[in-house]
Amino acid sequence: MSDCLFCDIARGDLPANIAHQDDRAVAFHDRNPQAPVHVLIVPKRHIESLLTMDEGDEALLGHLHLVAAQLARALGVAEAGFRVVINTNRDAGQSVPHLHLHLLGGRPLGWPPG
Ligand code: AMP
Ligand code: ZN
Repeated sequence: MSDCLFCDIARGDLPANIAHQDDRAVAFHDRNPQAPVHVLIVPKRHIESLLTMDEGDEALLGHLHLVAAQLARALGVAEAGFRVVINTNRDAGQSVPHLHLHLLGGRPLGWPPG
């Protein structure tokens, strides 16, 4: 176990309901879902937030979004619609300091978000 929850999940040291896994990313169902579909997509490498990514991470950032789209299709929310969110720092409510994309769908999503 490390001091990062999502690194532990990515390594398989902490159990999670895994939805997708590849060499660069892992996706798992949120333990406190805010919608019928609520999956977190995270890089396997520890990256604190969007703010600590740089030019060299462009492909990884794109990959994480493509995984989100693939999961939206696989989980049946692509056609009706879904949202991908990256909370960053305090005002956005980032509670886990390991970059993660929220994939939310399965119900109408309000706008603007709270
Ligand atoms: P954020 O608030 O944007 O940092 O999102 C963190 C998300 O991680 C929240 O939606 C939590 O419910 C979720 N979460 C925290 N710990 C776990 C865990 N062990 N397994 C699955 N989801 C988790
Ligand atoms: Zn981490």
